[in-house]
Amino acid sequence: MSSDEITLVFQEPVAKEKPPKHLADYSAQERREVAASLGLPAFRATQVATHYFSHLSDDPQSWSDIPAQLRASIADQLTPKLIELVRSVTCDGGMTRKDLWKLHDGVLVESVLMRYTDRVTVCISSQAGCGMNCPFCATGQAGLTRNLSAGEITEQVVAAARACVNGELPGGATRLSNIVFMGMGEPLANYNAVMRSVRNITDPHPDGLGISARSVTISTVGLVNGIEKLIEEEIALTLAVSLHTPDDQLRDTLVPINSRWKIKEVLAAADAYEKRTGRRYSIEYALIRDINDQSWRADLLGRLLKNRNTHVNLIPLNPTPGSKWTASRREDEAEFVRILESYGVPVTVRDTRGREIDGACGQLAASEKIRTD
Ligand code: SAH
Repeated sequence: MSSDEITLVFQEPVAKEKPPKHLADYSAQERREVAASLGLPAFRATQVATHYFSHLSDDPQSWSDIPAQLRASIADQLTPKLIELVRSVTCDGGMTRKDLWKLHDGVLVESVLMRYTDRVTVCISSQAGCGMNCPFCATGQAGLTRNLSAGEITEQVVAAARACVNGELPGGATRLSNIVFMGMGEPLANYNAVMRSVRNITDPHPDGLGISARSVTISTVGLVNGIEKLIEEEIALTLAVSLHTPDDQLRDTLVPINSRWKIKEVLAAADAYEKRTGRRYSIEYALIRDINDQSWRADLLGRLLKNRNTHVNLIPLNPTPGSKWTASRREDEAEFVRILESYGVPVTVRDTRGREIDGACGQLAASEKIRTD
């Protein structure tokens, strides 16, 4: 199959209808108004939110504070099922699980659940596809299909939280601790839905899942207008900037939105976020052999970051099908780390969890299309 054919099949005909409305699309106050508009007492909204966010219950028949004959219809109206599991693949002895979800219009998105000794992280999608067109990223290849609704984003998190408490990962029942917006999509290009879902994650029970803001990471190509809006939210999330190179010339090709906002502007916006929230931000840097892994670039990056409150997360490139690019040589990666450290810049190399299950960046959704067509 040629890559053109893959692109064609990947972009299924998309239904024009919006996803069904879900309580996770609304604030706590709006949920009460929605309940009232459905002819229900406003307190039903709080009851259903409690079942959804606090008990993680998807069985309306167990909602004993709601009259039995009303449970199914209230659940349909306030918590319609927005994501349906197509398949899961696991690796690392089950500690990493990638779920492929089908949305109401047949669009596919994916999330990845990862259990570590000290935390459980879910990586979620904010869009089906992505419009940012970064040439090394599998999601970028097929373009943007559509934005996800706040409900569709939140459902991925709630499904992960449920999997944790139900003991679906080896090691027994646990709690979901971290959420990273590093699946498909550019979160700041779907700003309102992403922020609504962030509030659903961080609001205390029963309005949300009660997870601390610092445990939520928004990863962005560097949409400066989005970062500026985020500053006004007064919420101390973890911000991650996908920099990938310290020079504008190469970044214009690796992260094409760089032609709109240059590295200097992106880092200034991230610095302003750090100033307002007190949160150190991350710089993501996919190490690509002979493209951005030269020691002079490490040097330039070190100089750029040495006086900033940031840390660098190096990601060995996960090669995408058909791409000529691959991960850096071990010795080049080690040298890159050494140079950054010589500037006092904290640096970690991300583990490559989930590689064998097309762990990163749209690869499962793409391979599912190839498998089924
Ligand atoms: N759009 C957001 C979030 C998406 S992906 C962003 O760009 O930040 C999360 C991270 O994975 C980004 O840093 C992205 O650049 C990186 N990434 C994408 N494709 C990759 C690949 N093939 N190998 C390694 N990292 C990749």
